[in-house]
Amino acid sequence: LSVIPDADILAEKLQIPFLSHRGAMHSIIVTFLVFLPVFAVYRKTAFPYFLALAQHSLVGDFLTGGVQLLWPLTTQVYGIGLSITSTTNILMEEVAFIASIIIMVKTNDLIRLFKPRKSNLLLAIPIFTVLLPPLLNFPLAVPAWLIPPHLFYVLIFLASILMTLKSNSLHR
Ligand SMILES: [Zn+2]
Repeated sequence: LSVIPDADILAEKLQIPFLSHRGAMHSIIVTFLVFLPVFAVYRKTAFPYFLALAQHSLVGDFLTGGVQLLWPLTTQVYGIGLSITSTTNILMEEVAFIASIIIMVKTNDLIRLFKPRKSNLLLAIPIFTVLLPPLLNFPLAVPAWLIPPHLFYVLIFLASILMTLKSNSLHR
């Protein structure tokens, strides 16, 4: 879920109106409007998903450049111009990574990830978004400390997909 706001990169390339990168899809107002019904239905179970999304669009992108935080009220960009390679940003990313593991363990999502389910195949999307940038811009300047979290997620997502594919072929 955390990579979804960056679908606006694609939208911008396709020249879809109002969808510029770090625009509407990174707005705190749009995020709350979208999550209001989700919270109403799923209550606190929706919270980890909200955190995943907010960690990217409202925290990470806010720290490293800026976002149209108050779209549609204003297209003004708000943010702190931290470098992706700055210690503060790396620390924030690592804290979010550790928090995500704790949440996945507490909610049993980590166990659920290794049970074959068709929806696990959707994990191809985050794998694709992690692997595409380094393939397009090789070598990509990523701080070494941020490589292990990426590898961790790519590996557990890949294992989850392979497990689902294997069980599907067994059932055939
Ligand atoms: Zn973004």
